Amino acid sequence: MVVDIRGRGENGKSLNPDFSSHIPVILPMIRSMHIPSLIERKRDGGTLTDGEIGELIAAFSSGEMPEYQMSALAMAIYFTGMSREETAALTKAMLESGSCLEHPDGAPRIVDKHSTGGVGDKVSLVLAPLLACADCWVPMVSGRGLGITGGTLDKLESIPGFRVSLTTEEACLQLEKIGVVMMGQTEDICPADKKLYALRDVTATVPSQPLIVASIMSKKLAESLDALVLDVKYGSGAFMKTRSKAESLGEAMREVGEAMGVDTQVRYNPMHEPLGHSVGNALEVMEAIETLRGDGHEHLRSIVIELAESIGGANAEQFSIWLDDGSAWQKFRMMVECQGGDTEALEKLADIHSASVVREIVSRCSGRVLAVDADTTGRASVALGAGRSRSDDGIDHTVGFDRIIKIGSDIRAGEMIARVHAQTEIDAKVAKVAFLSGFKCE
Ligand code: URA
Repeated sequence: MVVDIRGRGENGKSLNPDFSSHIPVILPMIRSMHIPSLIERKRDGGTLTDGEIGELIAAFSSGEMPEYQMSALAMAIYFTGMSREETAALTKAMLESGSCLEHPDGAPRIVDKHSTGGVGDKVSLVLAPLLACADCWVPMVSGRGLGITGGTLDKLESIPGFRVSLTTEEACLQLEKIGVVMMGQTEDICPADKKLYALRDVTATVPSQPLIVASIMSKKLAESLDALVLDVKYGSGAFMKTRSKAESLGEAMREVGEAMGVDTQVRYNPMHEPLGHSVGNALEVMEAIETLRGDGHEHLRSIVIELAESIGGANAEQFSIWLDDGSAWQKFRMMVECQGGDTEALEKLADIHSASVVREIVSRCSGRVLAVDADTTGRASVALGAGRSRSDDGIDHTVGFDRIIKIGSDIRAGEMIARVHAQTEIDAKVAKVAFLSGFKCE
C-alpha cells in the first residue's frame, strides 16, 4: 500500500516540491520492523530512513510500540541528534498521525505563533485574541507544561469549564464564528505529538533540536497556516541555553515551515529571567488578563506587540489600541465562552485558585537586581506542583510565584522581591530558598 502524502488538506494549498522530494511516500507497514535494532542504530549515531521513522511513529501512535521503547529512542535522539532529512521525516510522520484543519475558500489570513517554551511565558494567552482583532483567523494548537516550562493548555484549564479538547469540526466552526481557538493536540490533530510530548516531559528528553522541531512544526503545519511566527527563547529558563543554539533551532524550523509554503518568521527572545511577573498556571492567566485589559506590565506587552506586528497585518500602534480599548479582552472572553469556560470566573480567579499559604520573599541585599534566574524559578514552581514529574500526574493550578521583581530594578534589603503560593508551609520555605538561590543584586 502506498500512502498519499497529504501536506495541507484539501484547500488548495499544496506541498512544496522541494520538501516532498526528500520525504518519500511512507512505505508499506512492514510489521517485521525490529524496534530494538532501530533504537540501537540511533543510539550508535546511525541514521533512520524516512520509512523507518514513519513506521516507528505509526507504531507508537497505535500503541504497538510501548512507551519504554519510545523513551529509549527519544533519549538516543537526544544524544546523537538527527539529520535534516530525518528531522523532516519525523515532522511529516507526526503531522500524518492525524489530519489537518481545512479552511474554506476565501477565509481570512490564517496565522499563529508558537514559543519554544519558557518560564512564565503566557504570551499566547494575550496574542491569540489580539491577532483575531486584526481579522486574522488564529487556530492555535498548543501543548501542556514541558520540563520546567509551563504549557498554555494547563494555564487555560485554570479557567473553570474551559475545554481544550475540541474536535477538528468544533475548532473550524469556532474560527468562523470568532476567529480564534486555543486547543490541544487531539485524536485528529497530531495525536503522535500528544503522546510523545507527554513522554518527553518526564524522561528528560525535551531539549533536543529535532524533537522540538518535529513537535512544534507538526502541530503548526496541521493548522494549514498562511503565516507563522516562532518565538524562540534562549537562556537558563529555555531549552536552548545560548543564542547560537536558539538560532540553529529557529533556522531549522523556518526551513521546514517555508518548505511547506508557510511564511515563517522567527524572533529570538531572552529567557534568563521569568517572562513578566508571575510563574504558575492560574497566576499567569491573571497576569495575561491584566495585559488583555490594557493594564499589564511592559515586559509581556512589548513581546506580544512585537510578535503580533510580525504576522498580524497591522502596526504596533494599532495592536496597542486593541489592548487598551478592550477589543482583545472581549475576544478572549468570547473564546472562553465558546469553549465552555465560565466568563464570570475570569474576574475571580484569585479567589477560586487561592493557595493555602502565600508568603513574601524579601531581598537580603541592597542595590541593582542582577539575576532572577528563570531555571531556578521554573524548577521551584514545578516542585510546588505547577508541573509534572510523571506523565499521568495532575497539576496544581494555584501554586507558583507572583510579583517577581525584574532584573535592573533597584532594591533595598528587606523589600519584597516575589511572593510564593504554596499548599504547605514546608513547600513555601523550600520554594523560597530555591528562589533566593537564583536571585542576585550588586
Ligand atoms: N513546544 C512544543 O510544542 N514542543 C516542544 O518540543 C517544545 C516546545
